[in-house]
Amino acid sequence: MKEVILCKYGEVILKGANRSDFEAKMLKQLRQRARRIGNYKIYYSQSTVYIEPLDEEAIDNIDEMYYQAKHVFGFVGVSRAFACEKNIDTILEVVKTELAPKLRGYKTFKAESKRSDKRFPMTSPEISGEVGGAVLSSVPGIKVDVRNPEVIVRVEIREHEAFVHAGQEKGAGGIPYGSSGRGLLLLSGGIDSPVAGYMMAKRGVQLEAIHFESYPYTSERAKEKVLDLAKALTNYTMRIRVHVVSLTKIQELLRDNCEEDYFTLMLRRYMMAISLKLAHDYDCEAIITGESLGQVASQTMKAINVTNSMTDIPIFRPLIGMDKEEIIRIARQIGTFETSTLPFEDCCTVFTPRHPKTRPELEKVIEEQNHLPFDELVEEAYRTKEIIVVKQFGENKFE
Ligand code: ATP
Ligand code: MG
Repeated sequence: MKEVILCKYGEVILKGANRSDFEAKMLKQLRQRARRIGNYKIYYSQSTVYIEPLDEEAIDNIDEMYYQAKHVFGFVGVSRAFACEKNIDTILEVVKTELAPKLRGYKTFKAESKRSDKRFPMTSPEISGEVGGAVLSSVPGIKVDVRNPEVIVRVEIREHEAFVHAGQEKGAGGIPYGSSGRGLLLLSGGIDSPVAGYMMAKRGVQLEAIHFESYPYTSERAKEKVLDLAKALTNYTMRIRVHVVSLTKIQELLRDNCEEDYFTLMLRRYMMAISLKLAHDYDCEAIITGESLGQVASQTMKAINVTNSMTDIPIFRPLIGMDKEEIIRIARQIGTFETSTLPFEDCCTVFTPRHPKTRPELEKVIEEQNHLPFDELVEEAYRTKEIIVVKQFGENKFE
């Protein structure tokens, strides 16, 4: 039985004059993914995108295509429909043999029909009536509830074929990837930053990522872990460029020359300066971090202000008001949690102070900074960075 995939638009419907730009991005992303999987026809009609397999291989790979469709931002619902001949007997047969097994366990349903081919000899209510009858006779215990059904059975009579489907899964939501410009994600190996990246990507921000390491204090495995996290995000973004910057020299300098209480804050100022330079060079209009207010000493309002004061572009902190529990729920949903909790050291945990400042004074931090070689070390760390392109399909590429 031939199946097609239907993707329902989300808030893109509300866009005015530039709606077509958004639609074009969503279609492009589906097509780019489809190209890796098989030969599919992808087209738009009435707030729905249809993905039709065009040959046997595409039919065989429909599960993979469905998985891909669920990860494209901009669609709120994704479902699979059976395609069949436009003839009521065939349609009812499909409902009884293909759909009924999927409807087992549901208590209530409603049948809906749409006829874009007005030559079809029955009206929509007539089709719904017949289809409803077929469901009632083939699914034990199910009842009709037109107001609040658990599942809606839909029949669409289209130009060449009829589509029969039931049940819709959640799509990725949000707005199309890349429709809000570019942002630089500060990606650590922790739980929070991948979630922050995902949340901004969902709001259309194309991600560029920077990771700070401290080799040999941090290991090669710690870096691979971060690339694995980026890989998980490529389910949504298709590719992410990760810039890996070594902080070893800066950390050794701070260990020997900086007041211990201020170590983390100073380190974060170096990190921010390097990130700003990168954001500038790669046209990123915002910086994204996984900070959550009060979670650790460096995430109090005063501490946040110490890094905030350095930048002239916005810092997006989508997790700022979230509890750890909520963040973990999203991490599990996007498939980063397992990797994030692998036990590898992070550069921020190397030489951590015993009593980090929670209420630092900005002037004091700037004074500390003035005693240290700042710009030179920022330059050097930036110049020696490594670039890795992480792709959803295929191996990572070192540039
Ligand atoms: P995460 O779970 O994202 O590591 P965290 O709770 O451990 O966050 P911090 O270590 O204070 O918190 O880091 C706050 C934010 O700073 C991180 O969410 C991330 O955006 C950025 N950051 C921290 N360490 C690194 C790193 N090694 N490389 C890149 N960014 C980092
Ligand atoms: Mg961390």
